[in-house]
Formats: sequence, C-alpha cells, structure tokens
Amino acid sequence: MKQYYFLAIILLIVACKQATEEVPVPVEGIAEEVIVYEEYMGEEPTEPEQTEFYEPVPPIVNPIGNNGAPSDAIVLFDGSDFDMWEMANDSSAVVWHLNDDGSMTVKDKTGDIQTKQKFGDVQLHVEWRSPAEIQREGQNRGNSGIFLSGLYEVQVLDNNDNDTYVNGQVASIYKQHVPLAKASVPTGEWNTYDIIYHAPEFNSEGGKIKSGTITVIHNGVLVQDHVEIKGTTPYIGWPKNPAHGKGPLKLQDHGDNSRVSYRNIWVREL
Ligand code: MG
Repeated sequence: MKQYYFLAIILLIVACKQATEEVPVPVEGIAEEVIVYEEYMGEEPTEPEQTEFYEPVPPIVNPIGNNGAPSDAIVLFDGSDFDMWEMANDSSAVVWHLNDDGSMTVKDKTGDIQTKQKFGDVQLHVEWRSPAEIQREGQNRGNSGIFLSGLYEVQVLDNNDNDTYVNGQVASIYKQHVPLAKASVPTGEWNTYDIIYHAPEFNSEGGKIKSGTITVIHNGVLVQDHVEIKGTTPYIGWPKNPAHGKGPLKLQDHGDNSRVSYRNIWVREL
C-alpha cells in the first residue's frame, strides 16, 4: 500500500510542476519571434505569413560603391598614400615603398606597419603578392603576415614548391591552425584574403571569457573555417592571452628582404 501512496505523491509533484511551467506564447515583435522559432514548440503554423517577418531590414550595401570596395567599407589602402597607416614601433610616418601600380611593398628591416585606426570585429579584404623572382626557401621566401588586433597572425608566405611546417604555411593562423587547403596563385601574381575576425572578449579582471575566431577565404577558397584563436601567435613559445580592446591591423616586415607587396585593403566593421 505504501508503494501506491509514494507513487501518487510522485505523480502529483510531476503534475504540479508541469502546470506551473510557462509555455512560451508567440507574440508580435522580432525578438519574440526569434524566441518562438527557437523555443516555442506549440501548434504547427498553418499559414505562410505566420513564419515571415519584415524587421530588421538589412541596410543596402553597394558591393563596389566605395572605389571598388563595398560602400560601407573603410578603405585602408587604395594605392594613393599611407594616410591610414603608421610604423608600428613608434607611430611615425610609413617608410615602406609606395609603388606606381597602386601597391605598396615591405621595405626591409624598417619594421611592421599598422593602421592608425583601431578595430574590433571586422571583415577584412587584403590583396598580396610575393615577388616573382624567387629567393631563399621555407619561412624566408616571401614571408609577411596580417595581424588581427595587432596580435594574431594570418600567415603570408610564398609556399609554392616551398614546403615548411604546415601550421606556419600560407594562410595558417601562425603556429595554431593549419589551413584546409593551399590555394595560392602562381608566385608573382596577386592573392586575395577575405578574413572574418571576431575578437576575443575579456572580463574586467583581464580574464578571457570568450575566444576570438578567424575565418579566411584565400582566392575564393575557404581555408580557415571559424577557427578558435588560442592566443597570440609567437615564433617561439605558447600562445598568450593578454586582455585587450580594439587594436590596429598590422602588416609584417619579416626582416629578410621578403619584398612582399600589398594593395586594395579595405575593412568593414562588424
Ligand atoms: Mg609571417
């Protein structure tokens, strides 16, 4: 008999719990509609309009409306000057080569350059080229790099017929993530990188609470698929996680006469 009492009590508790659980009710408004999609498992809609909404309206972006860049992009380099850039070590005027063809070239042993403006999450477009005249091998052939937040390197390297450690090859997240493919064009021709970067987040004590992520499309080929940034990308040592806010975008002078060139750089803040 005791067992039946016990079972009855259990059933009563379950019934009460179910009665008090709130069932989400679909209401008007975008946020609620999103919740409805994710959580509301009520009646199946019977009209198409029940699953259609009209806000928020995406802004119109002309994909070539800003001198060939998207109309809402910030053009960082269009070949005319270094106005958006500075030397990374002392914020002085850029001394890299400004070429007649609308590109720039690393000036050896002068140091990295960086944007004067600081960025957080971005979509970044960069075109780069390693010199047609091949010199040296491995990491010393056409090595440069693009540092997101000034800290996390997407590798630039002439990797054609030039093997190196795969987590340091072209389009690697240096020493962290091997690219999914090697999608370089022939040496001396222009490569494109389209990068989507979400910066890591830190709490007020400086602890990382959310990792950053990087996606890279190299000449139209997905090579880094939303990979997690483990920390900084040093040549020697483990990744480190210093707290930071917005930071500059930095281009690397590898210091070995890499003669890597860049052109057509623009960024969209996300
Ligand atoms: Mg590099």
